[in-house]
Amino acid sequence: MSTVFEMIIAGEIPSVKLYEDDVCIAILDIAPKAKGHTLVISKKVYPTVSDAPDEVIAHMFSIVKKIDGKMRSALKADGTNVFINNSPASGQEVPHLHIHIIPRHEGDGLSFFPPSIKYDEGEMARFGEQLRI
Ligand code: AMP
Repeated sequence: MSTVFEMIIAGEIPSVKLYEDDVCIAILDIAPKAKGHTLVISKKVYPTVSDAPDEVIAHMFSIVKKIDGKMRSALKADGTNVFINNSPASGQEVPHLHIHIIPRHEGDGLSFFPPSIKYDEGEMARFGEQLRI
């Protein structure tokens, strides 16, 4: 079964398209967290970041950079949130690689993440050992 993004790429369902090339498209999210919320979507289907070639990820982030600049100039955004929901456990609803870019304005009150937590004694070093690449 096609993902909703494949149907958008194929022109089978409408979208407000901001950019397109051979590797990716950028469209407005239909259910924005802020007006202008954009998705940069790979043309080929990769469920997660780990499934996608490095050059695809690098290219998509070069487009994120352009969208970020446009949000700052055209929307007078003071900043952006850039993130990927990467597998269903992280909240990913569409299993097709896409990068969210949300324009932010000082004092807009949006919040995406829970408050910080604390490591137990020695735990931070152990996580460092586990995650060092
Ligand atoms: P995620 O939870 O990271 O998989 O995000 C999927 C995003 O796709 C959500 O923010 C949805 O609002 C958005 N979305 C789903 N269907 C459409 C659509 N037809 N056009 C634009 N955005 C969509």
